[in-house]
Amino acid sequence: MQARQIHLIRRPKGVPVAEDFKIVSVDLADPQAGEVEVEALLLSVDPYMRPRLNADQALHEAMLGTGIGRIVKSRDPAVPEGTLVRHAAGMRERFLSAGNAVRILRPDPALPLSVYMHALGGTGLTAYGGLLKIGALQEGEQVVVSTAGGAVGSVAVQIAKIRQCHVVGITGSDGKLAWLLEQAGIDAAINYRTQDLSAALAAVTPKGIDVYFENVGGAHLDASLPRMNVNGRIPLCGMISTYNGAGEGVNNLSEMIYRRVRMQGFVSTDFASLSDQFVEDMTAWLKAGQIKYQETVIPGFESTPEALIGLFSGRNSGKMLVSVCN
Ligand code: NAP
Repeated sequence: MQARQIHLIRRPKGVPVAEDFKIVSVDLADPQAGEVEVEALLLSVDPYMRPRLNADQALHEAMLGTGIGRIVKSRDPAVPEGTLVRHAAGMRERFLSAGNAVRILRPDPALPLSVYMHALGGTGLTAYGGLLKIGALQEGEQVVVSTAGGAVGSVAVQIAKIRQCHVVGITGSDGKLAWLLEQAGIDAAINYRTQDLSAALAAVTPKGIDVYFENVGGAHLDASLPRMNVNGRIPLCGMISTYNGAGEGVNNLSEMIYRRVRMQGFVSTDFASLSDQFVEDMTAWLKAGQIKYQETVIPGFESTPEALIGLFSGRNSGKMLVSVCN
């Protein structure tokens, strides 16, 4: 039997293009003792993948990545056929894995499986830990979130609303802006593509900013720094404006000095100790409708490169996913 993989075949220059990738079919043997065969159901494409394409991702090998799959053949009694699993096996349509290298997923039957790829997955935990732990968010504070219409940002703004904060979201389309105001219920939203970011931010943050949840860098960070309050926090989650090469410079870092601003980077795996509390909180919030979500689901394994590329033009509303198999 053959199975498809997505390979990187050359290092992208700037924003990746379809020709940087190739779909390759490989032979798939039967699982040996202790092994399982996994059929991919949903694959994640994520901004962090872009910097990896410069060096870490090997050429002519399956692209890195995570997803949810189903066990279709098993030689590991701990992971029987039909089990749903999370995996980090990359962009592979079907693959062999050690049974103990996949994580069994027992989804709540009242929730769609796809939420385990975002709100109840890595991007949700990133928003939760980044805001509550690194951002040390307090009730009623003044919060600004960039890429607010995306996977991490849309959860971060809503957690801040649950904590009774005044929340401003920055996004790149009027459609996402409308969703943030009308569905996520935030207080103000800015379209950075059509508005002067500094002027717009000043207008909607009359009490300054206590927590700026940073996902973009460059001009976004520059515009936010002069609005920071004394003892403000900047959880540095991402800097997507720099991932495709030289981004805009940041000139206003000196604003941090007298304002005693703390900026701290983090990665979602730092929050393993929060995981149980996160799952309990997020499951309850989703069921109560306190956290809403959007998904852009691109059908077909062969569309995975297109989905990844789309992240850099803002094609996704909420989490960008690829559906491989129903
Ligand atoms: P996402 O926001 O769902 O998708 C990316 C979005 O970024 C796009 O839809 C686009 O939305 C915006 N964007 C793309 N290029 C931009 C640019 N040059 N300037 C401004 N906005 C741009 O992705 P995500 O997975 O939630 O990730 C968001 C950020 O969090 C990224 O920086 C990512 O690296 C970071 N992150 C960090 C961790 C961690 O562990 N530290 C984990 C997950 C994600 P617009 O329409 O708004 O432009």
